[in-house]
Amino acid sequence: MPGDILLTVDKLNKSYGQLAVLKNVSFSLRRGERIALIGPSGSGKSTCLRAINFLDPPTSGEIRIDGRLIGQQPNGRRMTDAQLAPQRADIGMVFQHFHLWPHLNVRANVALQPRKVRGLPAAAATELAEELLAKVHLGHKAGEMPSRLSGGQQQRVAIARALAQRPKLLLFDEPTSALDPELVGEVLNVIKELASEGRSMVLVTHEIAFAREVADRILFMDGGRIVEEGPARRILDRPQEPRLRQFLSSLS
Ligand code: ADP
Ligand code: MG
Repeated sequence: MPGDILLTVDKLNKSYGQLAVLKNVSFSLRRGERIALIGPSGSGKSTCLRAINFLDPPTSGEIRIDGRLIGQQPNGRRMTDAQLAPQRADIGMVFQHFHLWPHLNVRANVALQPRKVRGLPAAAATELAEELLAKVHLGHKAGEMPSRLSGGQQQRVAIARALAQRPKLLLFDEPTSALDPELVGEVLNVIKELASEGRSMVLVTHEIAFAREVADRILFMDGGRIVEEGPARRILDRPQEPRLRQFLSSLS
């Protein structure tokens, strides 16, 4: 149902040895909501996204999607990768670097997860891949190898690949920061189109104008904590915390 809670992040902590990288991070996301996560480099944004889908399991804390605990069995033990796989499929992740399979064409890159994890027959997976490539405006590139595509096109393939999981939630980690400036717009446009379809997303970005346009809510992280959060316009136009003010003025 639109508007109910999809994702809950509760008292997430993550340490690497002595270094505490996430400190009691808690927030929730409603179905259809778009949250932008902003903050200085090293503040823990990527670690937070990676913890949400247990790519990098948190040291403590809980993640729930639709009320279901991610990565932990009811007895508190960590799930095996096989147990985690269907849960991870609920969460589509798009990274700064696209990590497409270089030896597979674009269509096969997108069709791989549906075939391997969801067990879709080859023809159905191919059909799904072509539909999603058309959605990111790359229907005409389905037969190309990734190396023949621009960075912006490769990132759009990565987005189609994430969509092929039929995820409930999309996580974007600075999806445009590795791109040449002239390629940023085409990727942001695709993300905007997904946002306008009512998809739920958490988006780490330095593109503040984009965050203002797309995000319902902004969380500002610094030093592993959420220091301030609120509606996007309020956070950007009337920041309260000195660290947020300083961060925003460093960008302009
Ligand atoms: P952001 O995405 O906000 O730039 P990160 O989540 O990547 O920040 O990193 C937060 C902190 O965690 C940084 O100090 C970084 O050096 C540290 N860190 C990230 N990954 C690791 C790791 N695998 N091992 C040790 N330290 C790490
Ligand atoms: Mg990062």
